[in-house]
Amino acid sequence: MKIILCTNRNSFSELIFQYLQDEVELIENHPINDELIDYIYKTNPDLILFDLFHIKKREWKFIENVTSAPSLREKPLIVILNNKTEPQIKKICELEIFDYLIEKLFKCELIMKINKAREIVEMKKEFNKLLTKDPLTGAYNRSFIKERIQEELNWCCLYKEPLSLALFDIDFFKKINDTYGHLSGDRILMEIVSLAIDFLPNQLTIGRYGGEEFCIIMPSINENEATEMCEEFRKKVSEYQFHTFSGTTINLSISIGITTFNGEDLITIDELIQKADIALYRAKQLGRNRVIFEPFVVE
Ligand code: GH3
Ligand code: MG
Ligand code: MG
Repeated sequence: MKIILCTNRNSFSELIFQYLQDEVELIENHPINDELIDYIYKTNPDLILFDLFHIKKREWKFIENVTSAPSLREKPLIVILNNKTEPQIKKICELEIFDYLIEKLFKCELIMKINKAREIVEMKKEFNKLLTKDPLTGAYNRSFIKERIQEELNWCCLYKEPLSLALFDIDFFKKINDTYGHLSGDRILMEIVSLAIDFLPNQLTIGRYGGEEFCIIMPSINENEATEMCEEFRKKVSEYQFHTFSGTTINLSISIGITTFNGEDLITIDELIQKADIALYRAKQLGRNRVIFEPFVVE
């Protein structure tokens, strides 16, 4: 668990560090100043401890920023107050702040509240995994993929950057299932996702689009780079020894269809996916085990 302590009081920071140094994996301190919000974004903590001992307008403004930012408002926030007054507690309720502590605070209550926050953080992580990942392969699921393509499309339109999209499908997978059994087929699906995650650069998103059809989202990657990368991946797959359930190894191939949007006009994600799908269909028609690029032209 990563915690950020926001305070301008040195003695308080020392006390909290002393309380928590053996209890949490990481705790960092940052003063309450103009760089704080950026620092919180950058460090992406699991919990924020915010010192409201000297309450001024500025401190509440920070709290309001943290509790209203889409990517921060999900984070548990514990504020430390110098005493309990009705207006303060009202404000805490209004801003849906996770919890509060009153000075002078004791180690046991701090630990108890942090543990409560930890449980919630873990539960949210699990829940998010269930919502966004395909349980068999660990790749992102179709609904997450569609959301991500939309976000990348918006971003690429705004910054006039290219967005390449690839769909790949395992060749003759039915035959693999028929010959080696469905459990072997499942194992191969897992292996192909691991291979893609290991091989492809981090900024690409890999998702399971359908049964044995996968999608690679490639932001800021133009047509040539996308084709080259997919060609290398196709080759890697064709050389890889996949494991069947009975312990033997087999070779297989994939067909890949790519398209690239050049960040110019507004398009829908369905138009983009459809173009990549046409390219994939052509790759199958032309004999499989190949990469086909289909240009994206806005009509
Ligand atoms: P093609 O080269 O034209 O793609 O031929 P194909 O045999 O791969 O044909 P198709 O893509 O239509 O086959 C999809 C097969 O994938 C059918 C289905 O039984 C299998 N499949 C889909 N999801 C799973 C899964 O989760 N596990 C296993 N083992 N098989 C799956
Ligand atoms: Mg197939
Ligand atoms: Mg298929």
